[in-house]
Amino acid sequence: MEFNIALLKGDGIGPEIVDSAVAVLEKTADKFGHKFNFTPYLIGGCAIDATGKPLPQETVDGCLASDSVLLGAVGGPKWDDQPGDNRPEKALLGIREALGLYTNLRPAKLYPALRNASPLKDEIVGDGFDLMIVRELTGGIYFGDRGYRHGKYGEEAYDTEAYSVTEIERIGRVAFDSAMKRSKKLCSIDKANVLESSRLWRKTMHKLAEEYPEVEYSDMFVDNAAMQLVRNPRQFDVIVTSNMFGDILSDEASQITGSIGMLASASMGAATRGMYEPIHGSAPDIAGQNKANPIATILSAAMMLRFSFGLSAEANAIEKAVDDVLNAGWRTADLVGNSEVEPLTCTEITEKILEAL
Ligand code: NAD
Repeated sequence: MEFNIALLKGDGIGPEIVDSAVAVLEKTADKFGHKFNFTPYLIGGCAIDATGKPLPQETVDGCLASDSVLLGAVGGPKWDDQPGDNRPEKALLGIREALGLYTNLRPAKLYPALRNASPLKDEIVGDGFDLMIVRELTGGIYFGDRGYRHGKYGEEAYDTEAYSVTEIERIGRVAFDSAMKRSKKLCSIDKANVLESSRLWRKTMHKLAEEYPEVEYSDMFVDNAAMQLVRNPRQFDVIVTSNMFGDILSDEASQITGSIGMLASASMGAATRGMYEPIHGSAPDIAGQNKANPIATILSAAMMLRFSFGLSAEANAIEKAVDDVLNAGWRTADLVGNSEVEPLTCTEITEKILEAL
């Protein structure tokens, strides 16, 4: 098969880690007989330097014309003084909106080989955990009615959480379908004991659950979920939740894996085209030093193959190559901690993954 992939390398370590993922994609294409065409576009600080804007129209058009998008990271101290609507990070909201990406999939997996990197105790993590957070990305309080007004105690500000049945059903289907492809277990997280929007969320999810009798469905309040994630993360498989709850819980879930350089994400919409990116930022402190861990970006590329191109065997092969390299004891500097292990550079660990593939 042949696919066109837009590359948004961005700033800081973005170019290093995207180059690693491209090498892995090229090797995968060779191995399985596919052809991937890569076209780079500017985004973030480098786009401000070249064009004055963090998200040039050419980048939006290029992404819309592609089969999928692979993003590195944007931002850095050089652009910190830019006005709010011209900051590199603003480009992320712009491109998500332009591509209609309403679902954020964030796997949080603790690899058995990296157990020591988790801040949780051994008896809690056991031999590791593997969960998937499905977060609604374009609705809820981040996009609701907001403003200032005169209230009981004088000036006050307000933000509004609103969800329609259509929005809830849309994200709910993604979550149930994800559960069907994994262990058929889904937990929906809300605050239905307090919020009207959460009561509609829960009612709509229950209705959807009737269409997926094979999925073991449960509900949980968000305050309990925050606690359960650190108490017993292994009870979860797929989690579905709203924009704000997902924002908070997915950061908590990423932290308990202990290694930000390992975590991939996918943003999806109605089209098969998605945007795939590591969850970390541009790491300006190590940029240009060949020290970055490229695994989150490589695993994001694997998600692209699985979710946008339907190439599951190819995605599995990349994930297995990463597993093999970690099990063989190879580590980048961020994974070494205080141990005696000599870390590999970004290009060296990429070579190991290519060899494993
Ligand atoms: P960061 O994720 O860039 O870095 C936090 C720490 O983690 C740093 O010490 C960094 O060296 C380390 N780190 C991150 N990724 C790593 C990797 N792959 N390998 C090894 N170490 C890694 O977060 P920050 O320092 O808060 O932000 C830096 C810049 O990135 C800011 O301008 C911020 O706005 C931007 N940012 C961008 C995105 C994005 O593009 N999606 C996300 C978050 C932050």
